Amino acid sequence: MTAEKICIYPGCDRPAVPPHVLGGPQPSFCDLEEHNALTAHQERQRRAHDAASTPEESHG
Ligand SMILES: [Zn+2]
Repeated sequence: MTAEKICIYPGCDRPAVPPHVLGGPQPSFCDLEEHNALTAHQERQRRAHDAASTPEESHG
């Protein structure tokens, strides 16, 4: 029984790529090149920053 793993990139709900045929842990990201540990971290930082700013205050 295998649960389908989903990409952990923020906002991404694509299935993670399957484990390598030669073994090893299954990657936590989908097959999009821009979805990796680094970009996911950067995206989380960006979202955290966005969430920290008050949405009620409109700019412009
Ligand atoms: Zn993804």
